[in-house]
Amino acid sequence: MDWRPEMQDEAAEKFFRYLESREFKTTFCEDCREVIFPPKVVCPRCLQGHISWRDLPREGVVYAFTYQDRSFRCAYPEVIGLVELKGAGRILTKIDAPYDELSIGMPVELSFFTSRDGLVLHQFKVKRNSGEDGDDLVADSAPTV
Ligand SMILES: [Zn+2]
Repeated sequence: MDWRPEMQDEAAEKFFRYLESREFKTTFCEDCREVIFPPKVVCPRCLQGHISWRDLPREGVVYAFTYQDRSFRCAYPEVIGLVELKGAGRILTKIDAPYDELSIGMPVELSFFTSRDGLVLHQFKVKRNSGEDGDDLVADSAPTV
């Protein structure tokens, strides 16, 4: 049985395909310059369909978080929350960190995991501090637009 979520449209389909190749992208409206997340085929702001795909930032800060003790797709207990991505707004996401160790404003970075039903999904984890500010080489990060 295929437990994957029913895709609402081609934008959702494409978003999950990008995640499979470890790319974190969303749609961008070429008319009103709006970053649209979750990705859509039509801009919800100006209702035009001149859409392109852009990389989302791979780093952000924790805006809010909570914890769920039941989940259909993921292991539980688990932490979910809103992460603020610079220039893209706040997104709802899994956060791979113990609840007790998180705080508002904490820097986090993107990672990926595979759910029990085989979907590659995004999550954020607490950003490691290498001790050298501004000079980090992160092998798996892509340039943002
Ligand atoms: Zn628009």
